[in-house]
Parts: sequence; structure tokens; C-alpha cells
Amino acid sequence: MKAVQYREVGGSPEVVELPKPEPGPGEVLLKVTAAGLCHSDIAVMSFPADQISFPLPLTLGHEGTGVVEAVGPGVTGVATGEDVAVYGPWGCGRCSKCAAGKENYCLNAAKQHIFPPGLGAPGAMAEYMIVDDPRHLVPLKGLDPVKTAPLTDAGLTPYHAIKASLPKLVPGSTAVVIGTGGLGHVGIQLLRAMTSARVVAMDVTEEKLALAKEVGAHEAVLSDKNAAGKVRELTDGRGAEAVFDFVGAPPTVTTAGSCAAIEGDVTIVGLGGGELGVGFGKLPYEVSVTSPYWGSRDELIEVFELAHSGSVNVHVETYSIDEAPQAYEKLHNGEIMGRAVVAPKS
Ligand code: NAD
Ligand code: ZN
Repeated sequence: MKAVQYREVGGSPEVVELPKPEPGPGEVLLKVTAAGLCHSDIAVMSFPADQISFPLPLTLGHEGTGVVEAVGPGVTGVATGEDVAVYGPWGCGRCSKCAAGKENYCLNAAKQHIFPPGLGAPGAMAEYMIVDDPRHLVPLKGLDPVKTAPLTDAGLTPYHAIKASLPKLVPGSTAVVIGTGGLGHVGIQLLRAMTSARVVAMDVTEEKLALAKEVGAHEAVLSDKNAAGKVRELTDGRGAEAVFDFVGAPPTVTTAGSCAAIEGDVTIVGLGGGELGVGFGKLPYEVSVTSPYWGSRDELIEVFELAHSGSVNVHVETYSIDEAPQAYEKLHNGEIMGRAVVAPKS
């Protein structure tokens, strides 16, 4: 089968030929229908060797959908031919976090060397993939795989972040979304579906800001050193009750802290390496700063419910497996609108 792999530190993604995998005990084999490209893949491919905790080569793709092709010994309750999406942040399934559905915060994953597909385990950017346990599958129930694969991360991660700030996003409040790419353009739609907050989007090009408005942002502001001041102007000086930073770089976390309201939330989702100082006088009174990772299994089901109700529509650019390396190049250069998705030809 064809697969897209990151093969050695400092290399570029490559299309390679691999044997079709066989499901072992408890595992499920999927024929992949779609795999999203995430900026985290680019982050991983820029890590030095000592920051990579899993072996290479790695088959990429942590946002995946597929059709159940076969199941391994002992697997019940999954029908071949079923259309499913993959919950990516795999955990041990037995610790207190996993028991609460929060496998993204599994207490044992690191020590048991359990990795998400595409971020340690072989991922979805291939013709077939192995899923370690049927509990990591969510039925699509008629949702389009290409538009739904991104919801497993570009939907789930902003959903988890927004859900934590819901008590603050009351009528009359303001939410800021910094970076309106894959995660951000879904985040805007989720904010509109889940809250009555006014949504202010920030990005670095007019084209991205136009997409932000198209998907529901009330206001769109260029992300520069004046951006926080613009948010204060738009809110009578009050600032934003919640700021979601989907870039996380030094200038954007500074903007995030500068435009937060008293008692506001700043959520740093992007892996851009920025730091925000917390301490008396550093931020408006009682601002909370968090940096969450992905989301829980029950939250993914909730995201799919929103997709079924038509509240989220991922803007996708579709590529073949052979075109994946160029698609990563475009993502790296900021040239993708919404999410790039690889869909293997059937
Ligand atoms: P993306 O490339 O699709 O989108 C990033 C957007 O940010 C682009 O539209 C880009 O133009 C914009 N941008 C770049 N610099 C900016 C700036 N200075 N100000 C405002 N906008 C700017 O990326 P993505 O796949 O949506 O991922 C976003 C970030 O979230 C990445 O850092 C990724 O690694 C991270 N991420 C984190 C988690 C998590 O669990 N914490 C999960 C998935 C992705
Ligand atoms: Zn991701």
C-alpha cells in the first residue's frame, strides 16, 4: 500500500510503498477514506532528534476516517463495511483519566509507549491503518469522510478549549480567535454554534480574514502589534472574556494577554513556543491561562452531533496520497485555506 512517511530527522514527507497491515488481537483494520494534514505534523518534523520520543520512520496522519476492512481476534461489536472516524489521543483505557473519557490526558500513555496514530503509531496517511481498539472508533452515520476527518483534531481541540470557557461566554461577551487556519476556522464556527459571544478573528492575510468572516466571525482584525488595541476599541475598553490562540507564537501570546478582559481566559493551543507571564500586574485581574491538549472521547461524539446538525462545515482542500508532500509544503507556507485532506483513490 501507499503511505506518507516522515522517515528521518530533518527530512521531508515521502510517499512510500509498505505492506498492507494485518490486525492483531483486539485491533481493527481500516481502509482509509480521508486523512487531515495538521500544523502539528510540521512541528514534529521540525523537532531535533532528542525531542522525538518515538521511532522513525513514521506514517503521518492523526486525523483519520475509514471503512472497517477487517477485525483482529477477539474484536466484537464492529461490522466490516462500517464508516468510522478515529479518536486520536489513544490512552491505556484503564487509568482514572481514561475512565472519564479523557484519553488525551492518560496517566500511563508515556510510560507504556502508547502513541496517537500519526504521532508515534502508524497514522492515517496511507491506504490502510490499524486502530488499536474499537473504543477509538466513532461511527460517521452518513457524515462525509473528507469533511469529517478534520473534526477529529481541528474540530475536537477547539471544542475542548471552548467548552472550558463556556461559563464566561455569556451574552454580551467577546471571544477572540487568533489564527484562522485548520483549527481556527472550525473554532469560529463552534463559538457561533455554542455561544452568543461576539467573535473577533485575527490572522495575517486578508484572504484568511475573509474566510474567517465567511465562516461566522463578526469582526476580523489583522494580527499585528495594534491588534490587542483594536479588540479593546471593539469592546469599550473591556477586552475579550476568552482568547483562543491557535498560533501560540511569542507575538500572538502577547496579543492574547493584552486583549483579555478582567477574569478572562487565555487558552494557548498553538505550538509556536510563546510564553505568557502570569503574576500580579502582568495580566488583567484574575485572568486564567491554560494550554490544553486535544480533547476527550465524549467531546468528539459531541462535535459529531454538531456536524450532524449542520453547525460546522470544514473548508477542505483535497489531495491524493501522491500530492501529500506538496500539500505539506503549502501548509508550511500558510497557503492552505481551511484544512488540507488527503483522500486515497478507491
Ligand atoms: P494552520 O497552519 O492550519 O493555521 C494556522 C493559522 O495561523 C494560519 O491561518 C496562519 O496564517 C495563521 N498565523 C500564522 N502566524 C500568525 C500570527 N502571527 N497571527 C495570527 N495568525 C497567524 O495550523 P493548524 O493545523 O490549525 O494548527 C494551529 C496550531 O495548533 C499549530 O501550532 C498546531 O501545532 C497546534 N495544535 C495544537 C493542538 C493541541 O492539542 N494543543 C492540536 C492541534 C494543533
Ligand atoms: Zn493535530
